[in-house]
Amino acid sequence: MADQKSSATKKSDIFSKAYNFTKAEEIKEQGLYPYFKPLHATDGTTVKIEGRKVIMAGSNNYLGLTNDQRTITAAQKALEKYGTGCTGSRYLNGTLDSHLELEDKLAEFMNKEACVLFSTGYQTNEGSIQTIAGRNDIIFSDKDNHACIVVGTLVSNAKTVRYQHNDMDQLRKLLERADPDAGKIIVTDGVFSMSGTLANVPELVKLAKEFDARLYLDDAHAVGVVGEGGRGSASVFGLTDQVDLISGTFSKSFASLGGFLVGDKQVIEFIRHNSPAHIFSASMPPANVATVLKALEILQEETWRLDRLEEIANYMRKELRALGFNVWSSQSPIIPVVIGEMMKCFEFWKDLFEEGVYANAVVPPAVPQGQSLLRTSYMASHTDSHLDQILEAFRKVGLKHGIIDRNGHSTID
Ligand code: PMP
Repeated sequence: MADQKSSATKKSDIFSKAYNFTKAEEIKEQGLYPYFKPLHATDGTTVKIEGRKVIMAGSNNYLGLTNDQRTITAAQKALEKYGTGCTGSRYLNGTLDSHLELEDKLAEFMNKEACVLFSTGYQTNEGSIQTIAGRNDIIFSDKDNHACIVVGTLVSNAKTVRYQHNDMDQLRKLLERADPDAGKIIVTDGVFSMSGTLANVPELVKLAKEFDARLYLDDAHAVGVVGEGGRGSASVFGLTDQVDLISGTFSKSFASLGGFLVGDKQVIEFIRHNSPAHIFSASMPPANVATVLKALEILQEETWRLDRLEEIANYMRKELRALGFNVWSSQSPIIPVVIGEMMKCFEFWKDLFEEGVYANAVVPPAVPQGQSLLRTSYMASHTDSHLDQILEAFRKVGLKHGIIDRNGHSTID
């Protein structure tokens, strides 16, 4: 083994990059490593980590349904009825009647003709983009798009041009310059996963029409979060019917795992029959499907959840700003708190944890250099007391690290 390791330090050994990867170890040695922390228990809003009970301020469980007795019971019943897994792809032996029921219900909910499920949100975007954009096509992709969109563009045979985040002037220029005979699709997050900002859907719809392009929204953080009845980012502007394809995930508001794409029947059927991520991967397990069906029902019945989520997001944005924090231009329950340099961010993370709050440390390359941040995100099930404890922890740690001053001003750029 030792010999294998020493040979791996040679540049020509393909493993050399792994044996030379020491960054995580160095940060662990300083006691500041914030990743892969195991949760020993959770009730959704509070979690137990390293024996300590802390408030969860970093989950995508927006509607607070992961620990709801109704979703748990629905999942349990599905386990009893169908067993633990489908052991095959949708194409072959892995389609259950409940998969079809969920596709029908989601198409109806999203006001689109048809829906196709994937086994993760990641696969949904990677697999759909790769399939719909081929040779001689051009993908126009926002620079802040999620990694699964980026990978989808890389594995497609299409040409990809990237525009600066939400920069509609640059997108127009790129569309103007593009081959008018090429097939074109604009792809963007509907709500951006780190900044919490909304895509400029009205302008995107306008540009797509003007330049004969199709529009694809990744609404992973938008369906079940924003828009009329939680119908996503296009619905915020009343433009759902103007968007060609909308994807979503079940790993956030829907308290499960899996993803979906809605659009015109012909396009969905094409993707269903051609996407490698759909055809060559086992289908969503029964309990996951049942959880989403129940969550969709609860979303529609208990409209207070979306109202509460919006109220919480507005409150936290206002209060964090009043303390002096830079929260960028968040427009959703994702609220980034900018800290600055990476190590400072890790120190901040640790102190926040000691104060009883868990948030997610996000560092380059996920964010620009010097803009490391704590990504906070909120749930309809957070109580006022949780929110005030989160704010107090940020205030204390923000003052300690000199990120804010006592007059509610930021001390960083
Ligand atoms: N799209 C966006 C914008 C995301 O943030 C994520 C995951 N955070 C995904 C897609 C992938 O979804 P999943 O984790 O459900 O695979």
